[in-house]
Parts: sequence; structure tokens; C-alpha cells
Amino acid sequence: MGLKNLSVMGGFDLYIKNNLHKALHNNEISDTQFNNAQKIISDYKTSAIPDRKKKLFELRKVLTGVKENTTLKPSKAVKTSIDIKIKSAQKMSLESDIQYAKGVGPQLSLKMKVLGINTIRDLLYYFPRRYEDRSNLTAIANTMDGAFETVKGRVHDKRELRLRKGLTATKVTIDDGTGFAVLTWFNQPYKSKSIPMGTFIYASGKVEKKFGETQIQNPEIELANEEENLHTARIVPVYPSTENLSQRTLRKIIKSAVENYSHLVSENLPEEIVLKYDFMPVQKTLQEIHYPSSAGEKVKAEARLIYEEFFLMQLAILSLRKNRTLQSRSHSYIIDKKLIEEFEANLPFKFTSAQKRVIYEILMELAGSYPMSRLVQGDVGSGKTIVAAAIIYVTVKSGYQGAIMAPTEILAEQHYKKFRQYLEPYGINVGLFTGSLTKKEREALKESLKTGEINVAVGTHALIQEGIEFKNLAFCVVDEQHKFGVMQRTELQKKGNNADLLVMTATPIPRTLSLILYGDLSISVIDELPPNRQEIKSFFRPLKKIDTVYSFIKEEIKKGRQAYIVCSLIDESDKIEAKAALAHAEELKSGIFSDIKVSVLHGKMKAQEKEEIMENFRKHGSDILISTTVIEVGVDVPNATVMVILNAERFGLAQLHQLRGRVGRGSEQSYCFFSGEIKSQESRNRLETMVSSSDGFVIAEKDLELRGPGDFCGTRQHGIPELKLADLIRDRKILEIARKDAENIIASNTDFVKKLKYNGEISNSESSGMIH
Ligand code: ADP
Ligand code: MG
Repeated sequence: MGLKNLSVMGGFDLYIKNNLHKALHNNEISDTQFNNAQKIISDYKTSAIPDRKKKLFELRKVLTGVKENTTLKPSKAVKTSIDIKIKSAQKMSLESDIQYAKGVGPQLSLKMKVLGINTIRDLLYYFPRRYEDRSNLTAIANTMDGAFETVKGRVHDKRELRLRKGLTATKVTIDDGTGFAVLTWFNQPYKSKSIPMGTFIYASGKVEKKFGETQIQNPEIELANEEENLHTARIVPVYPSTENLSQRTLRKIIKSAVENYSHLVSENLPEEIVLKYDFMPVQKTLQEIHYPSSAGEKVKAEARLIYEEFFLMQLAILSLRKNRTLQSRSHSYIIDKKLIEEFEANLPFKFTSAQKRVIYEILMELAGSYPMSRLVQGDVGSGKTIVAAAIIYVTVKSGYQGAIMAPTEILAEQHYKKFRQYLEPYGINVGLFTGSLTKKEREALKESLKTGEINVAVGTHALIQEGIEFKNLAFCVVDEQHKFGVMQRTELQKKGNNADLLVMTATPIPRTLSLILYGDLSISVIDELPPNRQEIKSFFRPLKKIDTVYSFIKEEIKKGRQAYIVCSLIDESDKIEAKAALAHAEELKSGIFSDIKVSVLHGKMKAQEKEEIMENFRKHGSDILISTTVIEVGVDVPNATVMVILNAERFGLAQLHQLRGRVGRGSEQSYCFFSGEIKSQESRNRLETMVSSSDGFVIAEKDLELRGPGDFCGTRQHGIPELKLADLIRDRKILEIARKDAENIIASNTDFVKKLKYNGEISNSESSGMIH
């Protein structure tokens, strides 16, 4: 290309230099060839064009001398490999395979792929885990014992010591005029080779003052005359890595990637946002996050990247919602206040004003022309079921089918009973679909669902299985959404033709998290409990004193109340747990509760058996239900007023709150006893939170704080995209801001949204998460 030195990024000389190192490393050229070639190319950039030409001929001469001394033509192998490199460098894009990145190659690329770095983009966005500030040089005389210091000195002495068989020490002494420092490595004799006597080097590491000496073991070192210092004398990045891949290698590769490829990254924030927050440009951001020029610049770069993560994610989530407005509903509801009033008139109670408000919020949206996706949030016991039932009533009255899916058979069964009770008087047919149906029952139900004979389907996952077809499903409800994945909430919806979706959750989600989990849904909140509810009184009792709790239960039973005792190991699927529940039940039955009707429920039982036991308890056929956590969600027996949770310290706060929510469902005063052993400050904090608060939102915030979002009802499996730098708790304010900005952009700046590509993943079946 006319020797303009433009055809390779970074310049031809740099390109050759890098490859010379590789060639030397791979034994493709000798030391002499390496040195000669280095010399020839060193001032290529500053040479005039005719001189460049000369240099190329010389270079070729030196290099092709490898195997063929007779010809000036490069060997075929060298030639093709150079061609490939040139080509790939020219066509390099952010999606290019990492092996073509400068300084990587096939072997190293394998190690990097283990770290999840597959493309140039991955490399640029592989952020440091932390930084070490080695920017301040310390005079050797002033170094402190135990401190992490960076010193600079001249190599004064080098020694190899054989300490014992198989253990050698390399000792290099440097001198900076104020004192000597002894650098030591074990079994790394090559260390001293790279630092000739008399040269200046930087060394960083932990200082030990021993035997009157200043020592640094296994320091990071670097020649002080290297053009720019990478590993010492600056704020140095520390990357997450494996043993196979050293920090030095990673730093080199990433540094070179930032220099050579960051220009490929285009600005992915709208200009107005960049201006508004005075964000630094993308390239500089990448530079500063990897190799901060100062602590302040690093913070600025970080802030921008955190914002960017949230902003782009929110944009993706919001565009899911926007996409929905591009579809239209094929069915239409009878929207009439009278229907709701008629339904309410036949209930044993009046709607709370919060329930009423939410019902009308839903109806308003159903009157519109886009399919609905709405979340109803309401603390345990706030009365979500009846809200769903009212809307399903309207649905059937309008001539369509409705469906409600619950996470457990016990809950599906309970909904089935309630829905029959509420809806059958109007001639509405309700069917129950669970995994424990016989084949024959299933086929019959399927048939009547398809013909429309069944108006309302209640069920577990069995509802979304293949082969289940509705005649005209218009409205579906997913109860206790937090027990389902994000994917599953749309599966049910797909059984209809643009069916409307209502998801309900009793687990209050901190707002930050709900912006992500439910960011694409509209939200209604039932923020009021039905009247005459008394706050549940909560206590902690050490296991030793559990007998006092059991005596208390006896008193309550005398008054005609019922009680739950949750007796559990952590995992519901655990066989041991069922055994523990059984064993404990036997103990209690034959002991303190010998004169009381006790029944036992656990996850290993057949569905039919569980149903019978639940039904018996509901009808007050027994006074105490000893159970595993299978009763965690949804179970509703208003006459039960005492909840005892054994080994409470083993549960998460959200789960404890759910369990406690099984009582306090009627007008009688209810009680909850958390029992266990407090083994750590953390479990003390958690139980104190439970005892002192009954507000689900307070508890959820605390839970998020104590456990982190990773654990919070399995966020990962809920399809929350991975956040690299952002932290849901620490950066919640930024999330809120980014959300607002994203909303404004979606509403106003469609050009930008069209151009944007989102690289995280949002696992929602409605869209791949890409904005096109
Ligand atoms: P959750 O929101 O936890 O799912 P449920 O829908 O199971 O709560 O309702 C809890 C209990 O409150 C049920 O027994 C239900 O019949 C009752 N309930 C619901 N709404 C009202 C109301 N407006 N007035 C009185 N009781 C109500
Ligand atoms: Mg419920």
C-alpha cells in the first residue's frame, strides 16, 4: 500500500515486533535473527519511504534465512501465515475470535476461552476484579515491614542458591541510593535472566524486614526502561484469572487490545445522555477502567460503565413492553362495573379499597387494545386470589376461557376449591390439571377444555404442557410468580391468542430488583390487608425452651384454634427432611400432644394423600399440622393462628415471611414462633428482623442486603442478565436514574433504539433480548 505504514493497525513495525517475539518463542527464528530483525525494524516508523523499502528487503533477508539460505523469497509457511495475520488484522471486528487479537494466537486463546473471553469485545469488557495502587514509588530506606510497596533500583547482585533438593532461590539485590532490597523467587531461575546487572528495575510486592535486610518475596518486576510500565509504578489492574493464565499475560493482552481495538467500539449511549452526565468517551472509559491514569478517572469510568449496564438492560426490558403494543388483542371483554358489583355481592366479605382499585386498574387495561402483562404485588394475606377470580369471572361472562397456574399441587388444589366455590354458582365450570391425574382423567379434561366445556382451568405446570389446548383462552393468571421462571410466565399466555396475563406474587421484591425481574410488566400493588386482621405477634424461642411454645399451642387449641409446626431441613426435595418431620411428629404425638389430633404433611407424599391431609386440616379434622416447607406458599386456613418454625435460622427471610403468612388470615390474634439456635451474628440479625417487622417490603430489602441478589429467590434462574460492574444494592440509585432515562428515550428517541444492540441476555421468550 505504498509503504505508508497504514495497512496494519498500530503500524507495521509494531506488528513485526510482536510477531518476532512469537517466532522466537516458538523457535522459528534464532536469537541472532531476532536481534537483527529488531534492529532493522526499530526505526521503521520514522524512516523515509525509500528507506522503509530497504528495511523490508533486509528484514526479509534476515527472516527467510531461517531454513532457506539460498533464496530471498519468504518460505511458503511464513508467507501464508503473514498473509493471514494481515488479513485478519484488517478485517478485525469486535466479534472477531480472540485468537486473532494481537499477542494471543491459538494456544493462548484456549486459556482465555476458559475465562469466557471469546471475542475482541469480550476482551475489552473483561474488567479488573480490583486494582493495586503501585503508582507511588517508595525509597527503599522508607519501606515498611508488611506493607505493599513499589521500589525502583539498579540491579546490584544476582545469586542462585540451592536451599535443599528441589528448592532453589533466586536472589536479586537492587540499590536505589537509600538502601538495598533483596528480591527473592523460589524455583524460578529464569527470573534473573531477564534483568541484566546494572539495569534499573521496578519491583512491587510485600516488604519484609528480616535479619536487617529489606526483602520482597515473589515481587512483580519490570524493567524501568520499558516504554510504558504495565505491571508496576502505576495503578495496576488485577483480573479474575485461572492458574494457567498469569496476570502479566492478561494485562499485556488487554492493554494491547485497548490500544488496538477500542476504536472499534462505538458509542452506545445516546448523545443527550453523554452530555447530561458529562460521561467520558467510550474509548477513554475502556482505557481508564483497565489502566487508570488516576484513582479519580477510574471512578469516573466505573460510573459510566455501571450506568451503561443498567441503561442498556432497562432499554431492552422496556422494549419488550413496547413490542407488546405492536400486537393487538383479538378478544374483547364486557367492561361493566355491574359485573364486579354482582360478583362482590355474593362474597362473604366486601373488597378492600386496595383490591377494588387493582381490579379496576386491570379492567381499564383490558378495555384498551393491547395485550396486558401485569404484576399484582401484595403481601401475604392481602387477598390476591379473589382479585384474580373477579377478573376471571368477567372473562367467562365475556365468552372466553380463563386459567390460573400455581407452583404446587397443594396450592392448585386450594385454588380449585375456592374457584368452584366462587364461580360454580354462576354456572361456570372449573377443571383441575395436575401431574397426578390418571391418563384417562387427563384425556377427558383435555377434551372438555378444547371444546370449551370447561371455562376455567386451574393447575400446576401441567397446564403448560404440550397437548393442552384451550378453545379460546383470553385471560391467564400465574400465582406466586416468584416460584416460576421468567420463561414460564409467558408459556401459559401462549396457550391463547395474545391472551392477557396477570402474574401475582406475595414475595415483595425490593424495587431495584423488581425493575429488573418485572421491568417489562405494569404493576399494581395491593397495599392493604382485609379489615379486622391483627398483626401477627412474633417471637424467638431457643430450641431448649420449645416446650413453652408447645404448651401455648395447647392453650390455643382449647380455644378452638389450629397450629402449624414447620419442621424442616433446608431442601424440600430432601428425603432426610421428610424423615425428620416424621420422626419429630411421632415424638410429639406420643409425648406432649398425645391427647391432640396431629397430622403430618411432607413433600414425599403422593399428591392425593397431601390433598386429603390438607383438606382434613382445613375442615378442622386435625388441630396441628406438622409439615415440611411444602406449605410455604399460598396455603390458606384462616382458623390456624399459631405457626412454629423449627430451625428458623436455616431459612431465608423471604421464606420465613411466607411461612409466617400462613397464619393471621382470619380475625383472631395470631402468633409466630421462630425457634432454633443462633450461631452467628448474621443469623441473629436475620431473626431480629423477622421478630421486629411484619412488613414484607422491609423484610425483602433486608434480605437483599444480607444475602445479595444472587441468592434472592434465585435471580439467575429468573433470567436477570449478568451485571459485570454494577451492584444491585450499592448502585440502586443509578439503576433508578437509568430506568427513568431509558423510559424517556423509548418514548422519544426511536432512532437511537433502532440502532442499538443489547449484548446482555434477557431470557424472555417474547424476544431474544436484542433490540433491532
Ligand atoms: P394472598 O394474597 O396471600 O394470596 P388470599 O387471596 O389467600 O391471600 O387471601 C387471604 C384470606 O383473606 C383468604 O382467606 C381470603 O378469603 C380472605 N380475604 C380476601 N379478601 C378479603 C376481604 N376483602 N375481606 C376479608 N377477607 C378477605
Ligand atoms: Mg395467594
